[in-house]
Amino acid sequence: MASKQVIFPDGHTLPAIGQGTWYMGERSSDIQAETRALQYGLDLGLSLIDTAEMYADGGAERVVGRAIHGRREEVFLVSKVYPQNAGGAKAQAACENSLRRLQTDYLDLYLLHWRGGIPLSDTIAAMETLRQAGKIKRWGVSNLDVADMEELWSLPGGDACMTDQVLYHLASRGIEYDLLPWCQERGMPVMAYCPLAQAGKLRNGLMDNQAVQRIAGELALTPAQVLLAWVIRRPGVIAIPKAGSRAHVKENARALEVVLSAAHLDELDRAFPAPQRKTHLDIV
Ligand code: NDP
Repeated sequence: MASKQVIFPDGHTLPAIGQGTWYMGERSSDIQAETRALQYGLDLGLSLIDTAEMYADGGAERVVGRAIHGRREEVFLVSKVYPQNAGGAKAQAACENSLRRLQTDYLDLYLLHWRGGIPLSDTIAAMETLRQAGKIKRWGVSNLDVADMEELWSLPGGDACMTDQVLYHLASRGIEYDLLPWCQERGMPVMAYCPLAQAGKLRNGLMDNQAVQRIAGELALTPAQVLLAWVIRRPGVIAIPKAGSRAHVKENARALEVVLSAAHLDELDRAFPAPQRKTHLDIV
């Protein structure tokens, strides 16, 4: 069975599940296991690794640097700049610092982590300077809702944005109302963060939900696999679960092959209805 893929506006194609890294690099005792988990994910074809200068104050980027050592070409490397660094010389320095921690000389994708006080036009200019210098191959944004995206698009060069990384899981479907169609109309994949709702921490009982459990039982899957298969059920969405163990990585990679039937999707819709009106973009 073919694995699901997403295609970026420049034609770059990736498996629809990647690997998150938030909370990696926090404890030195976990670094070896985290490094191995990411490497195992690469072995299984989960080539996108998502990190940020924010995570563990650069510690997550250091873990990623260890994990990708000697296999940089296999990886689609994503990092994010703090809003307060997303313009001018600060953006250039933040990117250089990320590259140093990641032990590489380029990022495949650099994202504005969330919108802050720096004008979007300054962020576009900084991203384009980095791109022309070969430090990043492409750029995008995170946590921007439709109004912010419209504003970005109205600015010169704003339509070079390659993705919007936003919170999306079965119990938080607000983007389906407007942001997801907006991105899809422009051929731009959405990167779904917290696709497992942080193992249910963001929504108590999500993993134990009756519909999720029933479908998992019927298809011999785990609840996490049902949640991931649901997030990537439509074209143009890439899920980036964070997994700190090989067992979780293996489960997550297998979710690429899972196809939920129309009946399964209806059952999940009844348990977690699609939005009928505009809601604020959910963030963590
Ligand atoms: P996730 O929804 O990915 O959940 C991570 C949790 O799920 C961890 O506790 C992990 O445990 C557990 N888990 C992973 N795989 C399984 C599995 N197969 N079965 C059961 N539990 C599992 O939450 P995150 O917040 O980590 O989001 C994913 C990524 O998105 C982040 O790591 C980060 O890269 C990005 N992100 C971006 C944000 C932004 O503002 N742009 C905000 C938040 C996240 P264990 O570690 O033990 O495997």
